[in-house]
Amino acid sequence: MNHAQLTALGRALRLLGEHGEALTGDTPDTRLHEVKADLKRALDLLQDSVTGAAPSTRCPEHPNGPVDENAHDLCLLCETRRRAARRSEYNGPSAQPHPTDPTPSRYGVREDRPQPQQRWLPELWNGQAWQLCGTPRRDRHEAELYLAAQRRGPRAAMAYRLVHEFTDYEVLRVWGTPVRVDIEPLGNL
Ligand SMILES: [Zn+2]
Repeated sequence: MNHAQLTALGRALRLLGEHGEALTGDTPDTRLHEVKADLKRALDLLQDSVTGAAPSTRCPEHPNGPVDENAHDLCLLCETRRRAARRSEYNGPSAQPHPTDPTPSRYGVREDRPQPQQRWLPELWNGQAWQLCGTPRRDRHEAELYLAAQRRGPRAAMAYRLVHEFTDYEVLRVWGTPVRVDIEPLGNL
C-alpha cells in the first residue's frame, strides 16, 4: 500500500466509523444510502490496496506456506514441527536434530516430515541431504510434472528425485548426481 492509498483508505474507514457512531433507529433512508456509498468507496479502496494472494493456511507464521489439509491450521510446516516434537517425546533426546544438520529449508528434510501416507514427494539434493522441494502430491503424474518444471528452472538443484510415501519410503527415480558438499564455516562468506 502506498502513502496515498493509506491516507485515502484511512479516511474512508474513519468515516464509516463515524457513520456507525451516528446510527440510531431514526436514521433516515437518505442517510443510509450515503453510508452505503461510503462503504462501497472504502471497499473499492481496500481492493486496490490489497496486494498478494489471500492466505492459503490459517498459520500466522506461514500464511502462504504449503498446505496440510489434515492440520488444524492447514500449515504443513508447523504440522511437521509438531509431529517431530511428538515423535521425539516418544523416542527420547536421540531423535532431536543434530546441531550440524544442514540448515532446514522451508519444507524440511525428509526425517522431519509427517508419518507415511500414500503420497508422492518431490525432493531435491541440497548438497548435504535430500529435502522436500514442494508440496507432497496425491498424484504421481502431477508430482513428475512439477519436478520436470523444477529441473528446467533457472536455479535448478544438482539433483531431484521422486519418492513414493506409503507404508515406507521408496525412491522411484533420481535425476542428476547427489554429491555431498561440505558446509562452509560461518564467517567465511
Ligand atoms: Zn506455520
